[in-house]
Amino acid sequence: MTRALSDWQRAEVVEHQRAGLTERQEDALTEDQRAGLACLECRADLRTAYDAVVVGHFRTDQLFACRGRCALRRAGRSEGLGEAPMPLAVRIGRNDGWAW
Ligand SMILES: [Zn+2]
Repeated sequence: MTRALSDWQRAEVVEHQRAGLTERQEDALTEDQRAGLACLECRADLRTAYDAVVVGHFRTDQLFACRGRCALRRAGRSEGLGEAPMPLAVRIGRNDGWAW
C-alpha cells in the first residue's frame, strides 16, 4: 500500500534512517517486526521474552530490539533511542486487528 507522506511522517522517515534503518531493510521486516512484536536483530518474540527498547520507526510505529547487544547493533546504544515504548498490550492488540 502506498500512502502520501505528510511532513510529520517525512520527519519520521528521517528519524528512523538516523536509527540505521534503510528503506530496503524495512522491506525485509517481518510482520511481527513491523508490529513491534519481534526484535529487529535476532527476531526474538517480544510477546514472551520482553526486555526490548525502541530502536527505530516504521512509518509512525515503533520498532524494537532486545535491550543490550541487539539494540546496540540497531541503534548504536544498548538502551535504544531512549523513547517511551508503546505498551506491549497495545502492540499486540493492534496486530490482532483492534481498531486504534
Ligand atoms: Zn534481539
